[in-house]
Amino acid sequence: MDMGTFPITLDPTHLDGLPADHLLRLFLGHFGPGFAVSTSFQRDGLVIIDMALRIDPATRIFTLDTGRLPQETYEIMEAVRAKYGARIELVYPDTAELESMTTRFGPDLFRHSVAQRKLCCQIRKVRPMERKLAELDAYAVGLRRGQSGERAETPKAQLIDGKWKLAPIADWTSQQVEDYLTANDVPRHPLESRGYPSIGCAPCTRPVAPGEHERAGRWWWEAEGGKECGLHVTPEGKMKRELDVLLDEVLAPRR
Ligand code: SF4
Repeated sequence: MDMGTFPITLDPTHLDGLPADHLLRLFLGHFGPGFAVSTSFQRDGLVIIDMALRIDPATRIFTLDTGRLPQETYEIMEAVRAKYGARIELVYPDTAELESMTTRFGPDLFRHSVAQRKLCCQIRKVRPMERKLAELDAYAVGLRRGQSGERAETPKAQLIDGKWKLAPIADWTSQQVEDYLTANDVPRHPLESRGYPSIGCAPCTRPVAPGEHERAGRWWWEAEGGKECGLHVTPEGKMKRELDVLLDEVLAPRR
């Protein structure tokens, strides 16, 4: 397998011009097991999984198991394991942090306020993601610029605190994703055909109506603008401070 030469001197602007499979080949070739695909098994992530495993069947794949995922997400994991023989690494929240949070604020705290919803995402998703990334040099995600306004400027490659984050299909359209999945007979998340174009935790995801934006079914009870949960956008201003106060409360016994 010719992995190519990693363009050490290239900047993210140049990498942004490379096709998805070229980017993945470069990074897999350079970082090997220091590179992984981060996925929640939605359409876009499944493109990355299929593409990466075709380049290198030993590609590492990991997913965050928040403890609140729908059963159908475990079914697509099993389908990917069966089709590709892939080994999927499941990443869990810290048990003590989870117990502290749910004891203080209840198991369904995400319904109480935007700050508590973000706290839940911090404990169940962001902090486990940070722990996982600490063992990697580079990772790829299925973000696309067309998914939401917040993602409109997503670069294909960026170096964040010495770690590469790739979004190889950032410039793809939804139709390109569809065409790739069909042409390559990629397994699909079972909820997709039931009106769920964007799938996260079970209590925070609903189907969307025809004509609604594909992320309209995520945290639908919140006002527009507050929908990213901290994995890709850092909360700012008052909300960040309120979230930090809640986090301090949850983590206090551990410090
Ligand atoms: S999506 Fe909902 S249940 Fe999942 S971590 Fe975020 S707030 Fe919690």
